[in-house]
Amino acid sequence: MALHFINNRGVRSASGQTLPVTDPATGQAYDTLERGNAADLDAAVRAARECLAGPWGKLSAAERGRLLFRLADKVAQHADELAAIEQRDCGKPTKQARADALALVRYFEFYGGAGDKLHGHTIPYLDGYSVLTWREPHGVTGHVIPWNYPMQIFGRSVGGALAAGNVCVVKPSEDACLSLLRVAELAAEVGFPAGAINIVTGYGHEVGDALARHPGIDHISFTGSPRVGTLIQQAAAERHCPVTLELGGKGPQIVFDDADVDAAIPFIVNAIVQNSGQTCSAGSRLLVQRGLYEPLLQRLGEAFRGLRAGPPAADLDLGPLIRQTQLERVRGFLDEVCRDGLPIVAQGQVVAEASEHGYYAAPTLVRDVPPQHRLAQEEVFGPVLAAMPFDGEDEAVRLANGTAFGLVAGVWTRDGGRQLRMARRVKAGQVFINNYGAGGGVELPFGGVRSSGHGREKGFEALLGFTTLKTVAIRHG
Ligand code: NAP
Ligand code: MG
Repeated sequence: MALHFINNRGVRSASGQTLPVTDPATGQAYDTLERGNAADLDAAVRAARECLAGPWGKLSAAERGRLLFRLADKVAQHADELAAIEQRDCGKPTKQARADALALVRYFEFYGGAGDKLHGHTIPYLDGYSVLTWREPHGVTGHVIPWNYPMQIFGRSVGGALAAGNVCVVKPSEDACLSLLRVAELAAEVGFPAGAINIVTGYGHEVGDALARHPGIDHISFTGSPRVGTLIQQAAAERHCPVTLELGGKGPQIVFDDADVDAAIPFIVNAIVQNSGQTCSAGSRLLVQRGLYEPLLQRLGEAFRGLRAGPPAADLDLGPLIRQTQLERVRGFLDEVCRDGLPIVAQGQVVAEASEHGYYAAPTLVRDVPPQHRLAQEEVFGPVLAAMPFDGEDEAVRLANGTAFGLVAGVWTRDGGRQLRMARRVKAGQVFINNYGAGGGVELPFGGVRSSGHGREKGFEALLGFTTLKTVAIRHG
C-alpha cells in the first residue's frame, strides 16, 4: 500500500480512495496507490511553502548541494532496490531499470555540485550606480512526471529545482509512482527537511490538473504528451505561472550514403528499441539517402528479426509497454500500416515465455512511409521505425523538419561540411552527429522547439529555468 509523501511522511488521501498498481509484464494488480485529489495537492503545497519559509530557505547553496550529494550516495546504495521497484512497476528490462537508477544518482551529483556555481552579474551602468543581478528560486515548483523514465525525469527536474533553491511538489504518472515514493523516503533519511520534496499520486486529470491550477505553485515542469502540455500551459496562463514543457518528438535519423553504416546500425536500432520505444527522444524516423536505402534496410531488417521482447527479468532487448492502452495505440498504428499497404521490412519476436496478459509489442521496421502518413508524423511511443528515402541535403532537411516536432535529430555522414550544415538547418533542441543520444548526457541541455515544447532541462542550463532573475540597482553617488 503506497501512500502520498507529504511533509516527510506517508499520508492517506483525503478521499480515502485508492488505485491499483499493475505489473505490465502480467497485467496483474499487485499493490495500491492513493488516488489523490485537490485537497491532497493543497496539503502538499502548504507543506512545501512552510518548508521554504522555514528550514529550506535558510540553507546556503552549498548546504543544499551537500544534501543532494548525500542523496546521490543513498540512491547509489539502493540502486538495485530502486531498479527492482521500477522493473516491476514499469516493465523495464534489468539493464534499463539499473541505468535509470544510476542516472538518478548522476543527476543528484551533477546538481549537487552545480547549485553553488549559479550566480548573477554586476552590470556597468551610470556614474554613481552599482547594478547587480541575483538568481532567485521561483519558490514552490510543480513537477508532472510521465511513466516512461520516472527516475530520470525526477532526477533532472527535481534535482535541478532543489539545487536552485526551490521546494517541490511532484505528481508522477499513476502508472509509475513507486520508485519515486521510495526516493522521497531516502531523501528524508539523508536530512531533507519536511516539505522539501512532496509527492501526490493519482490521476492526471485530478491531481495533475489541480497542480496546474494551484495558485501556490510558482513554476511547472511538465513532461508528457502535447495534448496535456497544452492543458497545463492554459491553466498556468490564467495566473501567469511559468512552465517548462517537454512534449516528445518524432526524431529523424538522417543517413547519407557516405555514412559509416557499421557504426550507425546499433545506434539506429537502439534509438527505437530502448525502453520499448517509449522514449520522447526516440529515433522513430529513418531518412536514408537513396543510394544507401536498399542495402541499409536489408541490414536493419536482419537486426530487427533478431530482436526479442519478453519478461523484464529476462533482460531482453525489450520489455512490455506500460499499459493496455499504450499497446492498443501501437497496434492502431500497425493496423493503419496494413490498411495502407506499407511494406513491413521485418519484425522482432515476442518470446514464448512472455505472459499473454502482458503488454508486449514486437519491434517493427516499416519502409516507404509517405512523409504525411500518421506513422511519419505522430509519436507512436512504441518500437515502430518508419523508413523513407531522400535524394539530397535539401530534401533531407525538408523531411527532417516536416513534422510538428523538433526535439532530437541524428545525422550520419563522414562529410564535415555537411555535418555542420545539417546541424544548423535541422530544427531540434539536440542534434547528434555520427551518434544518437550521446549516452543520455546528464550534462547536456535538453528540450524542444515547436510542438516538442520549450524551456530546457538537464545540464547547467536547466538551473537558469528554475530561477528568476532580480536586478538590483543602487544609487550611491
Ligand atoms: P500524458 O497524459 O501527457 O501524461 C503525462 C503526465 O501528465 C502524467 O503524469 C499524467 O498523469 C499527467 N496528466 C494527464 N492528464 C493531465 C491533466 N489533465 N492535467 C495535468 N496532468 C495530467 O501522457 P500519456 O497519456 O501517459 O501518454 C500518451 C502519449 O504521450 C504517449 O503515447 C506519448 O506519445 C506521449 N508521451 C510523451 C512523453 C515524453 O517523454 N515526452 C512521456 C509520456 C507520454 P497520469 O499518467 O496519472 O494520467
Ligand atoms: Mg505499473
